[in-house]
Amino acid sequence: MSKLQPVRGTRDLLPDDSRRHRLVVETARAVAECYGYGEIETPIFEFTEVFKRTLGDTSDIVTKEMYTFSDRSGEQITLRPENTAGVARAFISGGLGQRLPLKFFYAGPMFRYERPQKGRLRQFHQVGVELLGVAEPLGDIEVIVLGAHVLEKLGVLERTTLELNTLGDRESREAYRAKLVRYLTARQSELSDESLARLERNPMRILDSKNERDRAVVAEAPSIPESLNEASARFFQEVCDGLDRLGVRYSLNPHLVRGLDYYCHAAFEFTTEALGAQGAVLAGGRYDGLIETMGGPPTAGVGWAAGIERLSMLRDQTPPAPRPIALVPIGEAGEAKALELAHKLRHAGYAIELGYRGNLSKRLKQANKLGAAAAILLGDDELAQGSATLRDLDSGAQESVPLDALADRLARYR
Ligand code: ATP
Ligand code: MG
Repeated sequence: MSKLQPVRGTRDLLPDDSRRHRLVVETARAVAECYGYGEIETPIFEFTEVFKRTLGDTSDIVTKEMYTFSDRSGEQITLRPENTAGVARAFISGGLGQRLPLKFFYAGPMFRYERPQKGRLRQFHQVGVELLGVAEPLGDIEVIVLGAHVLEKLGVLERTTLELNTLGDRESREAYRAKLVRYLTARQSELSDESLARLERNPMRILDSKNERDRAVVAEAPSIPESLNEASARFFQEVCDGLDRLGVRYSLNPHLVRGLDYYCHAAFEFTTEALGAQGAVLAGGRYDGLIETMGGPPTAGVGWAAGIERLSMLRDQTPPAPRPIALVPIGEAGEAKALELAHKLRHAGYAIELGYRGNLSKRLKQANKLGAAAAILLGDDELAQGSATLRDLDSGAQESVPLDALADRLARYR
């Protein structure tokens, strides 16, 4: 029955997958905490308006990718395609403007109606950070360095390249935009239909096109840094200097953009060759105009988001499952005792597996299959004297241990 398939582009995270995801989240969270970022959880759905206003009517996300529906009272609701808009909404509706600067970390599912392929899902997961209220280059430096730090801790930094660009301030960007439109208009016969449609509404986004023909045109387009005014050039120089001082390597990509109007100054992306077409792992930039666009007070912002699926594919290792201790009753007294003993040991903090059924050899086989570190054999005679046999399943060594002493004796398996 096809309706019992998962919805296209969604996946179940079985325990191994969950552990891989959790490791990414916990690593990113721990690194973010070193920089003073506290976790924020915003709802996974918001009024559609929140995304329309922040992402802009011409972005790919708004035009093609949003999961939007009206709820039972007719409200237009959208499953969040990204989390910056939700954080900005929380900042405004929570009146957090008095407490700047604010530093947020988040992790959770995002939803985009895309063509599913390796590394591209309709429900995927991100970790991310947002730094609000810091207009100085130090803010850009901090979030980029924090991103590199997370990748380093995950052991994937070496497999990525940090691509860096600047969009400059509003004046610089408008100067560039005009130049770009002139250039693209002159070559419009070579552009894809999609890019042609963007030429008026959102020409900067053409720089980000994945279409082959567009790419050839874009390769010769004027570069953004050439249009920078002096203040913007100085700002970018400071960002680069900061990264240089900290030994964070980057490669300048003068055509890298974030497609939305409120982006300015640093734009960056950690990319990899290791995942085929889905090369972007962690991407971000500065969005000083965003909160004001949404009707809040003018507030500087800079941040990034990283795809957890892509990060865990890049790591390509599953963290080992915790190794349990198996209780193996032999005979009736053992059966009776096992339930209680499991209860006691679990409350002492051990991972205990009760085999549920089968004879000694079956249960030992099962214990091995579960990767148990040790088995506690509960034989009737030994139990009558208040003891059990503790067998180390790696070395095979075993000893008789009084039941009272078991919890302590197991300490080495914790
Ligand atoms: P792409 O160019 O791959 O579509 P994007 O520019 O849409 O990426 P962002 O909106 O910047 O991506 O999101 C940040 C990160 O989230 C990406 O770098 C990627 O790792 C991840 N990501 C984005 N969309 C998806 C998706 N559909 N499935 C899995 N991961 C995704
Ligand atoms: Mg996308």
